[in-house]
Amino acid sequence: MATESQPSGDRTDSISQRHRETAADVIPPNLKLYIGGDWVPSSAGETFETRDPTTGETLATVQAGTREDIDRAVEAAWTAYDETWSDYSAAERQRVLEEIAARVEENREAFARLETLDNGKPISEARIDMELVADHFRYFAGATRVNGGETIPSGDGQHVQTLREPYGVVGQIIPWNFPLLMAAWKLGPALAAGNCSVLKPAEETPLTVLKLMNEIDDVLPDGVVNVVTGFGPDAGEPLAKHPDIRKIAFTGSTEVGKQVMTQAAEHVHDITLELGGKSPLIIYPDADLEKAVATTITAIFYNTGECCSAGSRLFVHSDIKDEFVEALASTAEDLTVDDPLLEETTLGPKVTEEQAERTLEYIEEARDAGADFLAGGDVPDDEALAEGSFVSPTLIDDIDHDNRAVQEEIFGPVQEVFEWTDYDAMIELANDVDYGLAAGIITNDITKAYETAKDVEAGNVWINQYNAFPAGMPFGGYKQSGIGREVGYEALAEHYTQTKTINLALE
Ligand code: ADP
Repeated sequence: MATESQPSGDRTDSISQRHRETAADVIPPNLKLYIGGDWVPSSAGETFETRDPTTGETLATVQAGTREDIDRAVEAAWTAYDETWSDYSAAERQRVLEEIAARVEENREAFARLETLDNGKPISEARIDMELVADHFRYFAGATRVNGGETIPSGDGQHVQTLREPYGVVGQIIPWNFPLLMAAWKLGPALAAGNCSVLKPAEETPLTVLKLMNEIDDVLPDGVVNVVTGFGPDAGEPLAKHPDIRKIAFTGSTEVGKQVMTQAAEHVHDITLELGGKSPLIIYPDADLEKAVATTITAIFYNTGECCSAGSRLFVHSDIKDEFVEALASTAEDLTVDDPLLEETTLGPKVTEEQAERTLEYIEEARDAGADFLAGGDVPDDEALAEGSFVSPTLIDDIDHDNRAVQEEIFGPVQEVFEWTDYDAMIELANDVDYGLAAGIITNDITKAYETAKDVEAGNVWINQYNAFPAGMPFGGYKQSGIGREVGYEALAEHYTQTKTINLALE
């Protein structure tokens, strides 16, 4: 519920004022393309505006990079690789990554506020993002020291050994839902393994990555990380297709992921794809009701539902369904939908108006199909939020599992509820989507939890919790949710290095 203590006109003004003042404090001075350690305009001289989804106002004007800028960035990255970065020892790379983590920590509040302005996520959640960003850089700082190859038992007078060598230059395309955290997930393992990067932030949320480069300009040798802001087809596609990158890592929608896979095929680039999801959250009848409701709220409403891992399909056992959904709906209705810069806000606006409209279209489709709405199903009834791209926390019941709103990723605060009694039928339905990113299970019976974890088609399974992302936990999808894993040592060793096998004759 919104804060009602002030009339809505006054609240609209105070929200705008708060956002303008915060923007003046936290938007970094350099907002151009970051190539070879310099801040440069786009070759085409084009720019675009990034907007505050809470107020609809322009936050900043940034460069619209194109193919020529990608060419320049890839060239700068190779120069950096050849002339400096490939000479850095693992210990030196470790120190660089530790310093990046320290700079994020020192500026944590400003980073968090900037993320909230650009993305719309509640400030309390943006602060958690920044803790994770620092921790992921620190994790990969340590991982530089354990990135070794193997000695293969071979006999016959041969000594077979593998080296894990960096690719040289990698391309990285990131989304708008966790802008700086996704940059950390990409840059951490790439740099730890000894690669240089050309990174393209999402056009909706370029500011925290640009701030990161402002803060660490003196930490990294020039050209080790290059940032080209711009639109997907103009800057993302030339990056994925570039003949001189050796690997492309992409996080975003499955639809665009398929295009990136085709682009990468042109030069047979190695690829990591972290794509969409439509993840099941399974509640057993023995679940502690209060804890299960809290976990369900986190599963679907954390980050305003803009999580690829969101537990967007709820399967609740028939023995407890009525009681459970009643408690869930009342908790959802009680979420604080308001200005995300306020400490008490638990649900902010969607990242753009276009994304809010997309979510509302799915809601309409469910409504047209005769679904029942346990909560939400509209925009908040609060004049002070009218300029923002808000969608109310929404719970949908009595909907066919084949409905498009159930089968497709909505990427918003919308969950569909299903009741189950027969385990096999429930698992069949839980797996009956094209995606396989994550799943959640809530029960006190550890044997059942483990069996269910094995039965769900998902790359990540949370038991009695949801959306927990400690550094070191490999993350990625089954089926159309992606290829490869991010985070963790696996990301570094298997996705940011290539194996060279050396076979030495001993006789
Ligand atoms: P979302 O569904 O989260 O909006 P997208 O998959 O559209 O995400 O975008 C994720 C990232 O992919 C963004 O950085 C975007 O600019 C980029 N992108 C979009 N279209 C393309 C494309 N055709 N080729 C390469 N990158 C793209």
